[in-house]
Amino acid sequence: MAEPLIPLAKEAGLPICWAQEEGVLDDEAQEDGAQASPGIGMEREDRLALIVAIARAVIAHEEELTRLDQAIGDGDHGVNMRRGFEAVLHEADALAELGTAAALEAIGHLLVNRIGGAAGPLYGTLALSMARQGANAQTLHDWILAFGQAIEDVKRRGKSEGGQKTLLDVFVPVHAVLVEKGAEAFVQLARIAEEAAEATRPMRALRGRAAFLGDRSVGHVDPGARSASLILGVVGRVLCGES
Ligand SMILES: [Mg+2]
Repeated sequence: MAEPLIPLAKEAGLPICWAQEEGVLDDEAQEDGAQASPGIGMEREDRLALIVAIARAVIAHEEELTRLDQAIGDGDHGVNMRRGFEAVLHEADALAELGTAAALEAIGHLLVNRIGGAAGPLYGTLALSMARQGANAQTLHDWILAFGQAIEDVKRRGKSEGGQKTLLDVFVPVHAVLVEKGAEAFVQLARIAEEAAEATRPMRALRGRAAFLGDRSVGHVDPGARSASLILGVVGRVLCGES
C-alpha cells in the first residue's frame, strides 16, 4: 500500500511540495473505521495547521477585502469573510479530527451559513463539492480532479465563467497549474494565485454587483478573486512547510 505523502515528505525532511505525486493515501481514516474520507495523507496536525492558517489569513485581511468591495461592490466582503472564517477558526480542533473530505463538508456548511452575501454560497459550494467529489480520493491527482469538478459546480451556482472578474479568475488558473505540475505546483501556488487576482484589475465585471458599474469596475481588483488568492496562497505555503 502506498505511503501517505505528507509523512513521507516530513520523514525525508522535505516540504510536501517537493515530494512526488504518487503514493498518496490517507489510511488513517480507513484504519480507525471512521467515515471513509481519504485525503492526501494529511494527519490531524496538518489539517489543523492548514485550517488555522487559512482562517487567520482571511481574518487578517478583512480591511483589504472591505476596501476592495467598497470600490466595486457593497463593501461587505471583508466582514462576511471574517465572520465565516471566525466560525471555522472556532471549530478548528473539531474539524481537524475529521478526515479531509468530512472536514471540507463541515467547513462548507459553516461557510454557507456564516459568510452570507454572494460569497457564502460560492465558497460553500466549492467546499461541499470538493467534499463530495473527493470522498473517495486517494491521491493528490484525485484531489486536483475534485477541485476541478468543484469549480464547475461554482460556475453553475454563480451562473458564471472565468474572465468575468470573479473568484473563478483565481480558481481556474490555479487549477490549471495544478493539473499541469501536480505537487510541484504548490511552491508557486501563492504567486500564481496573487498574480491571477491582480489580473482581475483591468477586467470589466460581468457578474455580481460590480457588473452594474460596467466600465467603472475596471481598475480595481475583484474582492472575491483577492479572497480566493489569499486562501489558495495559504494552501500552497502550508503544504510547502511554511507557516
Ligand atoms: Mg459584497
